Amino acid sequence: MKKTDLDFSSVFTHCGKCASVDLDFSDGKRNECLDCGWVYYQNPVAAVVAVMMFKQQLLLLRRAVDPGRGLLDLPGGFVEFGETAEEALRRELKEELMIESVDLSYFTSAPNHYHYLGVPYQTLDFFFLGKISQAPKEFDSGEILEICWRDPDKIDPNEVAFPSMYQIIRKLLES
Ligand SMILES: [Zn+2]
Repeated sequence: MKKTDLDFSSVFTHCGKCASVDLDFSDGKRNECLDCGWVYYQNPVAAVVAVMMFKQQLLLLRRAVDPGRGLLDLPGGFVEFGETAEEALRRELKEELMIESVDLSYFTSAPNHYHYLGVPYQTLDFFFLGKISQAPKEFDSGEILEICWRDPDKIDPNEVAFPSMYQIIRKLLES
C-alpha cells in the first residue's frame, strides 16, 4: 500500500480530543497526540455490496454523488453500528432500490479506496450474491441517477467507479 493512501497528516491538523497541533503521524495507521496521548486509529471501514443478476444481466447503478459521480457502481453501502453485514446490505437495498426481500449468500471480500470530501478512507468491502425474484424499478434519486442492466462480460472498466468493483465482476464471471 502506498504511503500516500494513508497520509492523514494533511487531513487531521488538530487532535480530536484536546485540539493540540502536536501530532505524530509517523506510523501511518495511528495518529498520536503528543500533548494528551490520545490515539486515533485509522482502520478500514466495513462496507457491503450486492452482486445481483436477473435474466443474465447484472444490476448496476449510476452514481449521483462523488466519488465516481456518473460512473457505474454495485448497490450497497457502509455498515452502521450494531449491524451485521447482512442487515446492513438489506437496509441499503431497501433504501436504494426499495427491495423488500432478497436471498443473500457470501461471495468474497476486497479492500477498496473511498476518497470522500478530501479524506482518503480505506474500506473493506464484503460482497454478497443477492437473489431477487423481480427487477427493481424504483431507486433513491438522491444517490442514484439510473439503474443499468449489463451483460457482466461486456462492462468497460472505465465505466466502473471503483477498480475493486470491476475485479469482483471479473471474479463473478470466473465462478
Ligand atoms: Zn490531544
